[in-house]
Amino acid sequence: MLQNIRVVLVNTSHPGNIGGAARAMKNMGLSRLVLVDPEDFPSGEAVARASGAVDILEAAQVVATLEEALVGCSVVLGTSARDRRIPWPLLDPRECATTCLEHVGLGGEVALVFGREYAGLTNEELQRCQFHVHIPSDPEFSSLNLATAVQVLTYEVRMAWLAAQGQPTKMSKLETTAMLNTQLVTADELELFYGHLESTLVEIGFLDPQKPRHLMSRLRRLYGRSAISRLEMNILRGILTETQKVVRGEPHKRRQDDV
Ligand code: SAH
Repeated sequence: MLQNIRVVLVNTSHPGNIGGAARAMKNMGLSRLVLVDPEDFPSGEAVARASGAVDILEAAQVVATLEEALVGCSVVLGTSARDRRIPWPLLDPRECATTCLEHVGLGGEVALVFGREYAGLTNEELQRCQFHVHIPSDPEFSSLNLATAVQVLTYEVRMAWLAAQGQPTKMSKLETTAMLNTQLVTADELELFYGHLESTLVEIGFLDPQKPRHLMSRLRRLYGRSAISRLEMNILRGILTETQKVVRGEPHKRRQDDV
């Protein structure tokens, strides 16, 4: 699916940007790069900036005109750092990604077209695109680096593609770790903790049972906000137990060594 979305770079001056764009594409699972009349390509600088995405550079198609780059595309989206005079259907990067996936989902091919570092795309080139895409940057400083603009759009394409595949956008290993640490305590375990906390506070003289002054309800409110995990509850209970041993003059741990 993603192989049917091509990135077209028009008349790029800096080979480093071509390498950066290739890297951004490979990170996001895109593979098809088309270069329209690049000023300096192939180049060692492009390879250096591509990092491990040299395969994308090697497979890049170099053509002389934008028309050649767009052959076979059912939709062409042209990116622009600023508003142009002629009103045109304008999409943000997220809408652009949805449009790309709609077309490739129907078996079509899509082109994302990026302009020159110094001058962007000409009005004539922009008029070859059905849609214009603008990354909503600060109007006072709206122009992104070329490879960075490629990164933003390909990232949105990947997010939309993952959603369409029903694939998670988080790493499963992280999720599992988070789950283990956030197995929440049950209401009855929490009650046992409050009982333990209250008796400890009485023992250390912090809570006067004759004048409790809402202390326990305030502490309940505090801990209640915390979504305490099993692991955290064990730590809290451990602290209370050790505190009681100290007040009672019983042998106790000196260091926090095995909570
Ligand atoms: N001075 C040029 C800036 C070109 S930046 C101009 O005013 O058009 C090089 C390319 O990066 C642009 O042609 C476009 O493809 C992309 N780009 C940079 N900033 C962008 C933005 N805010 N939205 C969409 N594309 C952007």
